[in-house]
Amino acid sequence: MKRLVLASGNPGKLRELSRLLDDLGYELHAQSEFGVTDVAETGTTFVENAIIKARHAAAHTGLPALADDSGIEVDALDGAPGVYSARFSGAGADDDANNALLVEKLRAVPAAQRSARYRAVIVLLRHAADPSPLICEGSWEGMIQLEPTGDGGFGYDPYFFLPALDCSSAQLSADEKNRLSHRGQAMAELKRRLSAKGV
Ligand code: IMP
Repeated sequence: MKRLVLASGNPGKLRELSRLLDDLGYELHAQSEFGVTDVAETGTTFVENAIIKARHAAAHTGLPALADDSGIEVDALDGAPGVYSARFSGAGADDDANNALLVEKLRAVPAAQRSARYRAVIVLLRHAADPSPLICEGSWEGMIQLEPTGDGGFGYDPYFFLPALDCSSAQLSADEKNRLSHRGQAMAELKRRLSAKGV
């Protein structure tokens, strides 16, 4: 098994990615196993932040590192909250506060102009100085509704409406969401590219 470190402390992400990579002969370790703590996400793009996190984990462990970054872009807000999705309403923000701020900012915007998309980026650095990271991306189109529906998912899901399915992403089963979502797409690309190439 080839060892990889995941630059995240999120047990859900570790579980999901481990399952995917196990089949390909990779053993994924949380960066916390090596005493690596979170690094400040100082980039202004998803790709930059994912690279910052992966480089930090690779530098501290000497192992190839995987990191992801994701968020939601709202066209009427010039792409905000974007890389600030988790902290939209301030440091230590929770989902309720972020969603309340999103709705407040869009209250006067007509539905047709509330287009939005989730984006996810997963990067793999072979070592801390790797000049050509493997970059896998996914995006998922929808629009922001002003009233929440559904109780699945997390984050902005109750407000992320999918016109083609006539429901929000919080109304999908976990399997359906994984099949369609930005993160599901990025993971599928990672799997395809690793099976074709390896690290
Ligand atoms: P991170 O990629 O863990 O930094 O998460 C970024 C933030 O984007 C999350 O805290 C959520 O607010 C938002 N986000 C990313 N993906 C999703 C999703 O699938 N559903 C809802 N919110 C999401």
